[in-house]
Amino acid sequence: MENEELWQHVLSEVELSVSKASFNTWFQHTNIQTKQDGVVFISVPNSFAKEWLENKFFKFILKSIRSVAVDIKDVKFVISSVAQNAAVATAAKQKKKKEEEREIPLDNQLDFTGIDAETNLNTKYTFDDFVVGSANELAHAAAISVTKNLGTVYNPLFLYGGVGLGKTHLIQAIGNEVLRLYKGKKVKYVSSEKFTNELIAAIQSREMDKFKEEYRQNDVLIIDDVQFLAGKDKTQEEFFHTFNSLYEKNKQIIISSDRPPKAIPTLEDRLQSRFEGGMIADIGYPDYETRLVILQNKLIKKQISLPEEIIEFIANNFQKNIRELEGALNKVIVHMKISKGSFGVEEVKKILYPSIQTPKKNINIKQVIQMVANFYGVNEKQLIIKTRKQEIVKPRQVIMYLLREEFKFSYPSIGSKIGGRDHTTVMHACEKISRQLKEDESLNEEINLIKKIVHNG
Ligand code: ADP
Ligand code: MG
Repeated sequence: MENEELWQHVLSEVELSVSKASFNTWFQHTNIQTKQDGVVFISVPNSFAKEWLENKFFKFILKSIRSVAVDIKDVKFVISSVAQNAAVATAAKQKKKKEEEREIPLDNQLDFTGIDAETNLNTKYTFDDFVVGSANELAHAAAISVTKNLGTVYNPLFLYGGVGLGKTHLIQAIGNEVLRLYKGKKVKYVSSEKFTNELIAAIQSREMDKFKEEYRQNDVLIIDDVQFLAGKDKTQEEFFHTFNSLYEKNKQIIISSDRPPKAIPTLEDRLQSRFEGGMIADIGYPDYETRLVILQNKLIKKQISLPEEIIEFIANNFQKNIRELEGALNKVIVHMKISKGSFGVEEVKKILYPSIQTPKKNINIKQVIQMVANFYGVNEKQLIIKTRKQEIVKPRQVIMYLLREEFKFSYPSIGSKIGGRDHTTVMHACEKISRQLKEDESLNEEINLIKKIVHNG
């Protein structure tokens, strides 16, 4: 069998067993370079693809090849500059195509930001551009499933996760995909803040009927960052009615939040139970592989190549927020373009140093507790036991706040170290301190001082 035919056979089998995004990411620009002494050499565009294919697809590929070419004993992957160039060329073509598409005046509903005035959706958020990894696999699968079973299987779909982890991207991708798949479906995306503002405006201008109709006629309603409805009774009330009206008609509702429904303070019970009546999926921190692929994809799109050790450095140092990960990459690219001399990891370190969340490996929870206790002149044991004395409660809340905001420990782990408290207690403490910090100048100074002490050991 000819090399090309053989490889087409393998690809057709792979395609059936992996997602489209994964197929595009790992198998584009792969080829059989040559066959020699029973070994097939497969050319791949870079070492990421090489490693990934070796680890995850070696057996599959070998088996697939052997099913049509029994004399083959082994498969080897080689990085080839031809494949690399092909990758860059395709990216260039795609970019050009997109630019040409943009010139068609039909798009005049889109302003320069790519946001559709009617649906509020940003066209840049697609499933194709969403990298799937262990942290978002479930959320992604649920999102895909929703596009195929509108209003029926997962209603509502409730996605939650920390800042910059892809909630908005994923829920907007659902909206964009629905518009692509079905003609004439009405989709509306709105942040809960916008929903609140529109509601207030409608009340003031006595246009509630219009507001109601506007929201209740959708086939898909997407509400982002629903945690901001906390404490807004009137808005929650209206949202509850909107929700019910859509739900009864089997219209799809999609919701995002930075935390699960249970942990949203002052969310009405009836809304909470509505949210919990559908599918709840969380998005966690992206693993290293995912971070690498996200960076790689960005570079391919921008047609820029960076040394692998720089890409790895960025992936290693921005672990908890994909927006920051992308921001770091952009920063490096800008500096690289204007730099005259050599440009390596050392330069990158200098550029990114201020924004790197320095891994404070050598500090543990216990040490932080000790230092804050010392600062407030209380004893460590007092902090752990149950008491509502203000002179104890405040340092305890400050500790929780610092452990979370400064050291990025998880809510449950903080709770368990501080007297086995529930993670919602920790969340409340952090919120309380955050709120006070906005108003209380002296608390600000206090906490800055504590941070200095803690960081200097
Ligand atoms: P959130 O709404 O959770 O704060 P966003 O959806 O705004 O986060 O994501 C922040 C940035 O990271 C966006 O530019 C988004 O496109 C990107 N991003 C997040 N997750 C992914 C992913 N899995 N693959 C590719 N890009 C992602
Ligand atoms: Mg968001």
